[in-house]
Amino acid sequence: AKRAAGGSFVFYDPVTDAARGERLAMITELRSAIDSGQLELHYQPVVDMVTGRAISMEALVRWRHPTRGLMPPGGFIPLAEQTGLIGALTLWVVRRAGEQARLWWQGGIRMPVAVNISVDSLIDPAVAHEVVRLLVAAAGELTVEVTESALMNDRGRQVLADLAAANVSCAIDDFGTGYSALAYLRSLPVSAIKIDRTFITDLAHGAGVDLAIIRSVVDLATALGMEVIAEGVETAEIERKLLDAGVRRAQGFHYARPMPPSDLGPWLTASRP
Ligand code: C2E
Ligand code: CA
Ligand code: CA
Ligand code: CA
Repeated sequence: AKRAAGGSFVFYDPVTDAARGERLAMITELRSAIDSGQLELHYQPVVDMVTGRAISMEALVRWRHPTRGLMPPGGFIPLAEQTGLIGALTLWVVRRAGEQARLWWQGGIRMPVAVNISVDSLIDPAVAHEVVRLLVAAAGELTVEVTESALMNDRGRQVLADLAAANVSCAIDDFGTGYSALAYLRSLPVSAIKIDRTFITDLAHGAGVDLAIIRSVVDLATALGMEVIAEGVETAEIERKLLDAGVRRAQGFHYARPMPPSDLGPWLTASRP
């Protein structure tokens, strides 16, 4: 320990200091990565389990870091949210996904592309305004995924209502993991519910409780006129259980991992029955 100005003791902790330094470096790097083309979008299909065909795509961001390699979003989205970089990142994602969707539509792949929008970028009025403008201009080609936290926020709900009024579809992501949004679901113009992977994975272990939860989500969604999408389907056995429970749309490694656009053309051709 050394004596700091004012007489209090400050403990020098090399581990914490190293971590803090690394974090600061990463913030600076992420800021320039957004502008210098180090971010990429990979796309994961959502399939109709009955026909086996893709019906939409989800855009998932990655960071091709010069030394760390391809970083998954879990490694930098939270940092972007904590440092105010999420607005710039969201705008990049919406623009890039819009370009890709347009290319696919022009090439005959007429599938909506879903973008993940963190609630923080809906709260910042300047960012939200531009995000809405871009999404409305691409209505039909782009859709939105938000978590339950966006429904718990006044501004978040307002933005979603504006989007719905302009025919931009919205899905509730990771459904079941957040606060209960049931009270809001009734009044919200949401078109789909994505059941979180944790409920799906447990189906493999014969858990009757999870099956009961899924059945009740299907009932709820049907009553509200919403679609249900199961996330994280990894096996044919889980697919069968979901079909039995009345779920028709799914996403997961059983069908396709997230892929760069160049790999999706061949996948789409190969997956055609
Ligand atoms: P999410 O939106 O729930 O996306 C689904 C995640 O589950 C993706 O991870 C995907 O690769 C993974 N996944 C899909 N199928 C399976 C499966 O069968 N098994 C398993 N074990 N995993 C599966 P990823 O790409 O690492 O993304 C993680 C999260 O990062 C996303 O979760 C989303 O919350 C966030 N994220 C991704 N892209 C963006 C973005 O552009 N903006 C924002 N704000 N968040 C993003
Ligand atoms: Ca998502
Ligand atoms: Ca999800
Ligand atoms: Ca998630």
